[in-house]
Amino acid sequence: MTEDVDIRKAARQHLEMETFFAGDFTVKSKNAPAEIKNNVADELEKIAAEVRKCLQCGLSETRTNGVPGDGNPHARIFFIGEAPGADEDAQGLPFVGRAGKLLDKIIAAMGLKRGDVFIGNILKCRPPSNRDPRPEEIIKCLPFLEEQLELMRPEIIVALGAHAARTLLNTNKPIGQLRGKFHLYYPENMATPIKLLATYHPAYLLRSYLPENRRKVWEDMKKVLEELGLPIPDRGRK
Ligand code: URA
Repeated sequence: MTEDVDIRKAARQHLEMETFFAGDFTVKSKNAPAEIKNNVADELEKIAAEVRKCLQCGLSETRTNGVPGDGNPHARIFFIGEAPGADEDAQGLPFVGRAGKLLDKIIAAMGLKRGDVFIGNILKCRPPSNRDPRPEEIIKCLPFLEEQLELMRPEIIVALGAHAARTLLNTNKPIGQLRGKFHLYYPENMATPIKLLATYHPAYLLRSYLPENRRKVWEDMKKVLEELGLPIPDRGRK
């Protein structure tokens, strides 16, 4: 990702162009109507169906399953990773491999269950050999995530790792500088921003399984719990 690529702006422009030339001139409402809010689960399923049949980039040729995201449609916390890996591609579910097992432990340490939160990714399809997401793939895929966020309106986004944090915050700063504090994510169609806390990706924790890294992630998760007014479990040391 180069310094001057404004991914979110490019994604928006791309979407507008496609919509315009497809002849759909409808302007979406800034505030989701009540009936949409009441049907978040149904609307999320519609997005998921679109993801599963998406052919917008080359990843559709190599994927087994699209991985739209999974969890509680009314979750207060939305965890966002980078892209599905081999296990996720095989099952069509996010974070079900080794990194996912560690994420489960982090969620459990927070006193929560996986079913309490929502988990998704920047890219909905697996990049071959788990290579880094490419800007053109992010541009095509990001509108799915933005739609999910606009529908769900979680109170906090936890960006897992540099790719998620940099994409959503539109910056190239290193994850070491971004993690540990709250930022604001501005969804396209929402008047109020969503708080975003960046932390290390569980796969990084597995690679660098050092007490100091685990401690930093736990410090980050405590901030999320504090912000939501949730109790901090005593034994939740990571
Ligand atoms: N890593 C990610 O970033 N996302 C997944 O879904 C799995 C591993």
